[in-house]
Amino acid sequence: MVTAQMGHPTSLLASSFANEPFLDFSREENARKMRDAIAQVRAQFGREYEMVIGGQRLRTAGKIRSINPAHPSEVVGVHQEAGPEHAEAAIAAAWQAFERWRLVPWDDRIATILRAGEILRRRKFEFLAWVVCEAGKNWAEADGEVAESIDFTEFYTREALRLSQATAPVQLPGERDHLTYIPLGVGAVIPPWNFPLAIMGGLVMASIVCGNTVVLKPSPDSPTVAAKFLEVLEEAGVPPGVVNFCPGGAEFGTALVEHARLRYVGFTGSKAVGLQIHERAAKTQPEQIWIKRTILEMGGKDATIVEADADLDAAVEGVALAAFGYAGQKCSACSRAIVDEKVCDVFLERLRARVERMQLGDPAENRPVGPLINERAMNKAMEYIAIGKKEGRLLCGGERALDAGDGYYVQPTVIADVAPDARIAQEEVFGPLLAVIKSRGFEDALHIANGTEYGLTGAIYTSSAEKIERAKRDFHVGNLYINRKCTGALCGPHPFGGFNMSGTDSKSGGPDYVLLFTQAKSIGEKIMA
Ligand code: NAD
Repeated sequence: MVTAQMGHPTSLLASSFANEPFLDFSREENARKMRDAIAQVRAQFGREYEMVIGGQRLRTAGKIRSINPAHPSEVVGVHQEAGPEHAEAAIAAAWQAFERWRLVPWDDRIATILRAGEILRRRKFEFLAWVVCEAGKNWAEADGEVAESIDFTEFYTREALRLSQATAPVQLPGERDHLTYIPLGVGAVIPPWNFPLAIMGGLVMASIVCGNTVVLKPSPDSPTVAAKFLEVLEEAGVPPGVVNFCPGGAEFGTALVEHARLRYVGFTGSKAVGLQIHERAAKTQPEQIWIKRTILEMGGKDATIVEADADLDAAVEGVALAAFGYAGQKCSACSRAIVDEKVCDVFLERLRARVERMQLGDPAENRPVGPLINERAMNKAMEYIAIGKKEGRLLCGGERALDAGDGYYVQPTVIADVAPDARIAQEEVFGPLLAVIKSRGFEDALHIANGTEYGLTGAIYTSSAEKIERAKRDFHVGNLYINRKCTGALCGPHPFGGFNMSGTDSKSGGPDYVLLFTQAKSIGEKIMA
C-alpha cells in the first residue's frame, strides 16, 4: 500500500503493487462495524443530493429516486434529473476547468488521486454499506467492489506515473526528441449500476489523473454511491468543474454523446446502449473538430467448459458461484455451462444440490444471494426463465422467490438440455439463469463456447495440459480462467475487458488502460549550436 504522505509520488514505483486485502466478516469486530455502518447509512436514506456543475450545486424539477432493491419502498437517495438542456452547461464547465487541470503537473494529479484512495480506505465501511443498500450486494461482494476501487486509485496512478516518464524511443543525433502524453479533453463517463463504485470511480480516476475533465452521468439505479464518491474527490482536492456530477437517464446520455464539444465517452453497460453510443459518437456534428473516442465495455454470455477429466466438485462450486453470485448480475457471470455428456448427469445432480442450498435474502443481513436491481430486471429474468422452460428442462428454481422478502428476488434457476443456439444460450439475461449445454467432447465444447456474438469471460475445468493449452489459444474471450470460476477479476492480475460484442477490450485494471485517456505528442527539437 502506498499513501500520498509517503512523499513524492515517484516513490510509488519503488514498491510493487498489492491488491487491497479483503475483510474477514467472520471476525465479530468487522461484522459489528458493518452492521453499524448499515445503520448509519439507513439513517441517511431519502436525503436529497444536488447536481454539481462547475462547483455549483443545482436542483431540478424532475427527480430520480434510487431505491433499496431489497426493500423497494425505501428510497436510498433523491437526485436531480439532468435533461438534454444540461449537457451544454456541464460540458462548458468541464472545458473551463480543463484549461487549468491539464496544466497541473502529473505528480500533483497523482497525489490527489492517492488522497482519494486514502479517504476511501478511511470510509470503507460506509461505502460498503451504501453499495449493499443501493446495489443489493452482500457484504463480501461489496467489499470486493470497494477494494477494487481502492486498487484503481493506486494502479492508475502508478500507470500514470509511468506515462509521465515516457521518452522518445530513439534520439536523433542533433535533436532532443520527446514523447509526452497529454489529455484528450472533456469526456462523458457513463457507467452501469452493477459496480456503482468501482466501474464509475475507475473511469473517473483514469480520466482525471491524465488531466481530462468529465461529465459523470451515473446510472439512475445507483446515483447515491456516485454522489458519495464525489464527496471523496472534493475532500481529496479535485477542483470544481473537473468532475461534473449529473445524474440522468438515456436522454441526457444521448445529448452528451452527440455534443460537438465532447471529446470522448467512457461507457460500461449493455451491448444495445454501447452500440448506440458507438454510432452516435461516430457521427460528426457541425463544428466538431475531432473524431470522438469511445471506450465501450459491454455485455457477455460467459461460458464454463467442464471436461470429463475435471475435478467435478470444483467445477460445480465454480459454476454455482459464478452463475448465482450477485444473482447473476455481473458481466462476467457464468450463464452457460458446457458439460461433457459423459459426466453431465452427475454434474447436474451435484449442481442442483449446491444451488438449492443457496440462501436468498436481504444483503444487509449478509444473505448470500440478493435481489435483482429493479422491477424491470426481475421481469426480464422471469421472461427468460419462461423461454428457458420451453427451450430445455427445468432443473431447479424457475420462480420468483417471494419468501426471501419484499425485494426483487428470483430463484437461482438452472435449465438443462439446452441447445447451443437457444435464446437462453445466446442472449444476455443478467439475472440468475444458467443454461447447461451438453458437449460431445472438447472440440465440440470449444465450438459451443465460442458460438455467441460475445467474448468477455470464460472458464475451463480440466486436468488435461493439452486442453489447457488449446483453450489458451482458441477460447476466444478477453478473460480466460483455468480451473477456477469466471468471475472475480482482480485489478492487476486480471486486466478486464472483452472481445467481439463484449466491447472495445479496454482492459481496466491493466497497464494499457490509462493510455486510452491520453494522446501522445511527439516533439523533435533541433539542438541549436
Ligand atoms: P445499460 O446499458 O442499460 O446502462 C448503462 C449506462 O448507460 C447507464 O448509466 C444508463 O443510464 C446509460 N444509458 C442508457 N441509455 C443510454 C443512451 N441512449 N445514451 C447514453 N447513455 C445511456 O446497462 P446497465 O443495466 O446499467 O448495466 C448492465 C450491463 O452492463 C450488462 O449488459 C453488463 O454485461 C454490462 N457490464 C459490462 C461490464 C464490462 O466490463 N464489460 C461491466 C459491468 C456491466
